[in-house]
Amino acid sequence: MTVHSVRLAIDTSGPYDMHDITGQVQRVIQDAGMGDGIATVFVRHTTAAIMIGEHEAGLIHDIPIVIERLVPRGDHYRHNDLNRDDNAHSHVLGSVIGPSETIPFTDGELALGTWQQIVLIELDTHPRSRQIIIRLTGE
Ligand code: ZN
Repeated sequence: MTVHSVRLAIDTSGPYDMHDITGQVQRVIQDAGMGDGIATVFVRHTTAAIMIGEHEAGLIHDIPIVIERLVPRGDHYRHNDLNRDDNAHSHVLGSVIGPSETIPFTDGELALGTWQQIVLIELDTHPRSRQIIIRLTGE
């Protein structure tokens, strides 16, 4: 069994900025020369998330609107009071969406469906630099 790990840095432009990182993950598998295994994609932050979805213009527009409905930025949050912060909703969303996805790969190719992409979503209130770990386990 082989374990291969790569760190990726992505600068986001602000709230709900979404980056399709599927190509980068696929490249890591190819560079590692691995055939079969699983890729774990993990963002090392509490106010960003990794999700799998279709990265297209309609959903890039729709997802922030639905997110804002689910966890409104303007609600009252204890985290903001205690820490003189403005991003409690970002932490809540980070917990709900989650920091990682695990994707199998076969013959060196991610086993994603046609419309599935691996997406980093920024949940914080301002642009941030995000670190992502891509870890491959397999052979
Ligand atoms: Zn905070």
